[in-house]
Amino acid sequence: MQRYQGKGVFGGIAIGIIHIYAKGEQQVKRYKITDIRAEIERFQDARQTAVGQLGLLYEKAVKEVGETNAAIFEIHQMMLMDDDYLESVENIISTQQVNAEYAVAVTGDNFAAMFAAMEDEYMRGRAADVKDISERVLAILMGRDKSSVITDEPVIIVADDLAPSETVQLDKDKVLSFVTVHGSANSHTAILARTMSIPALIGTPIPLDASIDGHLAVVDGNSGCIYVDPDDETLRIMEEKLAQEKEKKELLQTLKGKESITLDGRKVSLYANVGSLADLSRALENDAEGIGLFRSEFLYLEKEDYPTEEEQFAVYRAAAEIMAGKQVIIRTLDIGADKQADYFKLPKEENPAMGCRAIRICLTRPEVFKTQLRALFRASAYGKISIMYPMITSVKEVRQIKAIVEEVKQELITKGIPFGEVEQGIMIETPAAAVTSDQLAKEVDFFSIGTNDLTQYLLAIDRQNEELEQFFDAHHPAVLRMIAMTVENAHEAGIWCGICGELAADPGLTEQFLEMGVDELSVSPGSVLGLRKVVRETKVL
Ligand code: PEP
Ligand code: MG
Repeated sequence: MQRYQGKGVFGGIAIGIIHIYAKGEQQVKRYKITDIRAEIERFQDARQTAVGQLGLLYEKAVKEVGETNAAIFEIHQMMLMDDDYLESVENIISTQQVNAEYAVAVTGDNFAAMFAAMEDEYMRGRAADVKDISERVLAILMGRDKSSVITDEPVIIVADDLAPSETVQLDKDKVLSFVTVHGSANSHTAILARTMSIPALIGTPIPLDASIDGHLAVVDGNSGCIYVDPDDETLRIMEEKLAQEKEKKELLQTLKGKESITLDGRKVSLYANVGSLADLSRALENDAEGIGLFRSEFLYLEKEDYPTEEEQFAVYRAAAEIMAGKQVIIRTLDIGADKQADYFKLPKEENPAMGCRAIRICLTRPEVFKTQLRALFRASAYGKISIMYPMITSVKEVRQIKAIVEEVKQELITKGIPFGEVEQGIMIETPAAAVTSDQLAKEVDFFSIGTNDLTQYLLAIDRQNEELEQFFDAHHPAVLRMIAMTVENAHEAGIWCGICGELAADPGLTEQFLEMGVDELSVSPGSVLGLRKVVRETKVL
């Protein structure tokens, strides 16, 4: 048995087989070959396998997200049959007498560059697709299956680190736990694990090699340990703990349908944070009273090009309908920093967390912003949709947003397209917003405090940098004072104020938050019932 100590970011026990998640990018070597025909055949075989994989992905996607959204896999299949693409690969192999991997990589780069330089916006968007299909073929040629994460049995994913664009591709039903060598507690992998309510470890010094891949392991999210090839005694103890946890979860089920109210009668709304439609079922299962943060950027991250108004409308409308009249707060896209989508072509920045991200992108690319706003307002005719804007620093930005929103509403009115009453709020996640929250409160319908970013900017501690864990203090008085001040300013202006950062789920702070007058706490779906228990056992003085 091997034991590795990391840091638990979500409790619980997982028992299963380890699957090492390797990065999509691979180093391609160029070497001379002698048998040209055999090399071309090797390429053709890999191409066929890729076409087959894409067919399976298409079928899976049709079931999960519908035909329109699944069409991308059909497009990829067609690209792999494109004569120009095939000729280019075969030509490089035969004229230069080089290996298939090199020929595919060069063709992929050349075609991507060619598409990227085209006038037509749609064609430019195809650059990412051609890169993707080339990577798929490369992975097969190099003996690493790109879609290998889609296994039959759920697995424990062990990785160096996971970017949001990688986690979004994982088949979530097949993931028992995440264990990463790097990463920080507030990274989006950690947030994803909490949303999925599965045990997760970060900062785990575990070798990413054959000594663990495919081996049985136990992850203990409470102690932050992973046991590889556990001995009988460890396995027995962990199985017992797993059974106890199940019992605890079942006990929490008795809180379903009960009010989130303190012993002395103070009510608080317990909402859920989600990143996709699939997460909504987790929110409902756990009796969330609404959705406090729908991270809409995940819709953009799982795409290879901007999601269209129709695609977005379908998701927002479904969210409104599924939540059946409960409030659904959708945050406009918060792309940038660690959440990168190639097609946005964001410039490389020295300091991306403080760079061109979130509302700054929306205000500099009003067409992208307006497409999302139109989809959101249209969806508001089907339920209680609210809109929330991220990374606000000033009243000026809010007024700019309002002007754009007005244009969108007028367009819809002119076209006779219905929309409902939409509450509009902002995230308080920059110190500037917190400090000027008295002024901002007069401009909007609600505040939601994003403690993940607020803490990073306030303490000058990069939330992605694991080296700084020892300096990080989620309970720092500066953070708590800013929360208190923001709530007070919100109430002074007659608006409500919630918290949707990870701190909202901290049971050690619930009493303090309630004393401050926080109106809503939005947490991962799996934390809702546990928090309701804490609220119901609390007395606010
Ligand atoms: C936050 O910053 O607290 C927040 C909720 O937003 P995100 O974690 O998505 O940046
Ligand atoms: Mg944030």
